[in-house]
Amino acid sequence: MKAMIINKICNLNEDKAPLQLAEMPAPVPGNLDVLVKVSACGVCHTELDEIEGRTPPSRLPIVPGHQVVGTISDKGKDVSLFSIGDRVGIAWINSSCGKCRFCLDNNENLCPAFSATGRDANGGYAEYMIVQEDFAYAIPEIFSDAEAAPLLCAGAVGYRSLRLSALINGDNLGLTGFGASAHLVLAVVRHSFPDSRIFVFSRTEAERKFALELGASWAGDFGDAPPDKLHCAIDTTPVWKPVVDTLAHLWPGGRLVINAIRKESIDKEYLLKLNYADHLWMEKEIKSVANVTRKDVDEFLKIAAEIPIRPEIQQYDLADANKALLELKQRKIRGAKVLRVG
Ligand SMILES: [Zn+2]
Ligand SMILES: [Zn+2]
Repeated sequence: MKAMIINKICNLNEDKAPLQLAEMPAPVPGNLDVLVKVSACGVCHTELDEIEGRTPPSRLPIVPGHQVVGTISDKGKDVSLFSIGDRVGIAWINSSCGKCRFCLDNNENLCPAFSATGRDANGGYAEYMIVQEDFAYAIPEIFSDAEAAPLLCAGAVGYRSLRLSALINGDNLGLTGFGASAHLVLAVVRHSFPDSRIFVFSRTEAERKFALELGASWAGDFGDAPPDKLHCAIDTTPVWKPVVDTLAHLWPGGRLVINAIRKESIDKEYLLKLNYADHLWMEKEIKSVANVTRKDVDEFLKIAAEIPIRPEIQQYDLADANKALLELKQRKIRGAKVLRVG
C-alpha cells in the first residue's frame, strides 16, 4: 500500500517536505481488529507537533493521521460490532488500558497508557489501517467521507473543549484562532446555545471574515478588545499571546480552555506580561483539553448529524500531504484540510 510517513523529526521552516511517500505492506488485522480501506483523512495541527518533535511519535517511521474515514475490508475472527463493507471512522484515541482509575472513571483520555492514532500506532495517511473494533465509530449517513473526517478530531476535541468551558446559553464565548476546530465549535454553539454571542479573535483577515460569515457576533485581532467581556473562551492557537490577552477579557469567574496538544515557544516571553491582578485574580481559571474519549466522539457525531453541521473542507491528494501541512503551518486555512486517499 501507499503511505505518507514520518521518518525523522525536523523543522518545517527548513524542510518543506517532511513526509515521505512510501510503499509498505498493508497491515494484517488481529483477532479484534478491523482493516479499514481509507478514503479520507483529516489534516490536524497535531501532525505538525509530531513532525517538529513537540509530541514526537513513540517510534519511527510512523504513518500519521487521526481523522480517518473508510470502509472495512477485512476483520479479525472475534470482531462482532462491524461487518465487512461498513463505513467507519477512527479518531485520536487508538487505545487505553481500560483498567486504571481514569479509564474506569470515564476519563480514558487521561489514561497513562493512552495510545494515539498516527503517533503511537500507524494512522490514516495511508491506503489501509487497522484499529480495534471498539475504537471505531459508525459514521452518520448524512456526511460524505471527506466531510466526516474533520469531525473526528477538530470536531470531537472542539466539542470536548466546549463542554469543559461550561458555557451556558446566553453567555459570551470567545474563540481565539479560527481554524478547523473553532469553525465546528461555532456551528454547535449557534445550534445548542442560540442566545450566546461568539467573539472571534484571529490574526488573519481571512479567518475573521470567515467567522463573521458563519455567524460570529464580532471578529477582531488578538490585541483587540471585544464589545463585551467573555464568560468563557476556547483557545486553539499554537502560541501564548492569545492566552494572556484573553484572560484580561474574562468576566470574574470566567474560564479559558486551551485546546492545543502543545504550545510553540516562539512568543513564550509574552507570558511575562501575565499580571495576577488583571489576568487571574477574581477566580479566573485556565484549563487544558487533553485528547478525547470515545464518548466525546460518539456524542459529537450524533449532534453534528442532528444540526446538521456542514464542515468547510479543502481537499488534497494523499501525495500532496506535505503541501497541506505547510499551508496549515502558514495558516492558509479556511475550515478543515482533508486528504483524499484511495
Ligand atoms: Zn487532531
Ligand atoms: Zn487506563
